[in-house]
Amino acid sequence: METYSRLPIKVVRGKGCLVWDDTGKEYLDMVSGIAVCNLGHARDEVAKALCEQAQQLFHCSNLYRIPQQEKLAAMIAENTFDSRVFFCNSGAEANEAAIKLARRYCNVNGKRGPNIITFEGSFHGRTLTTVAATGQEKFRKGFDPIPSGFIQVPFGDIHSLEAIVDEHVGAVMLEPIQGEGGINVPPAGFLRQVRKLCDEKGLLMILDEVQTGMARTGKLFGYMHDEIEPDVMTLAKALGNGFPVGAMVAKPHAAKAFEPGSHASTFGGNPLAMASCIATLGVILNENIAGKSRTQGQYLMDRLEELKGSHPSIVDVRGRGLMIGVEFDTEIASLGADGIEKGILLNVIQGHILRLAPPLVITKPELDSALETIHMLLSEKGL
Ligand code: PLP
Repeated sequence: METYSRLPIKVVRGKGCLVWDDTGKEYLDMVSGIAVCNLGHARDEVAKALCEQAQQLFHCSNLYRIPQQEKLAAMIAENTFDSRVFFCNSGAEANEAAIKLARRYCNVNGKRGPNIITFEGSFHGRTLTTVAATGQEKFRKGFDPIPSGFIQVPFGDIHSLEAIVDEHVGAVMLEPIQGEGGINVPPAGFLRQVRKLCDEKGLLMILDEVQTGMARTGKLFGYMHDEIEPDVMTLAKALGNGFPVGAMVAKPHAAKAFEPGSHASTFGGNPLAMASCIATLGVILNENIAGKSRTQGQYLMDRLEELKGSHPSIVDVRGRGLMIGVEFDTEIASLGADGIEKGILLNVIQGHILRLAPPLVITKPELDSALETIHMLLSEKGL
């Protein structure tokens, strides 16, 4: 169906930060399948784990114990907080699971809720309930009736949030840095303020780490920059380095709102998905990929600040780690197609923001090459 406006190339192969099309043309990938292939393409450890698992068992129903799920859940808990994990297959599903958990938590406890506050500019997925949660009207257009139970307030404004909380509110859900909304970094301390409010009022704090997770922002998870812990966290995208998978991680007090039969997924936590995740998280931890994301991200930000000096249409460079947005004062939507000509994959969001989200294993020479091509493209376009 015509649900995507696609660029015309056919990408057929990848290795590290490079991909090739069906004619053999090479491209430097500054998109990573939208923050998915954080370890680069066709990463050996992940490919090997998948192949080995494929020879053992593709699928097993959740009617039975699945040891790979237990192993991955333990790895996630060890590296985050005391938690239980529900596995699913995408970011939208992970958020659906979090929303269902929050509603059941409210309805079971019976004290407050079940409304959930989310933020203007947020993005939480494309199912009907996650578009209701999403703070961008364009994703809801034409899909009435939209599920109710969500209230949106301006991102980064603690006073608006405090003002809207009443006994009908049970949870606050947000991205540590808004991705699709334009790489919007909240003011310093915002996550801590939200945490404090949630503690005071007895609200669940749900962090959507689908895009910020898995070392993208220079720490394993986005919340770690603020030294707080959420009650619930959702993951997908880079969790399996490209294998479709999602997870909803919750502290025990929240997790116990679900009981056998409350929620389920045929494929959720499938052994193949789990094998790719265990291998991916193993490499991220063993090779300090978060540190690499921090170092390379800082280098890229510094060089982009320099680039801003020679291109007056750049109004802002922002982000954390290798999740970076370059905002222009004009429409730049054609940069994606222009990049294809020059052998680079570039992604534009909101029509005027260049999102840079390369694999976290990108090298300095590769970053220099990307910067040179971007400089050339901007110069040619008079930007
Ligand atoms: N949440 C965030 C923060 C996202 O960036 C995305 C996708 O871009 C989603 C949820 C939805 O994930 P998926 O496309 O896997 O359903």
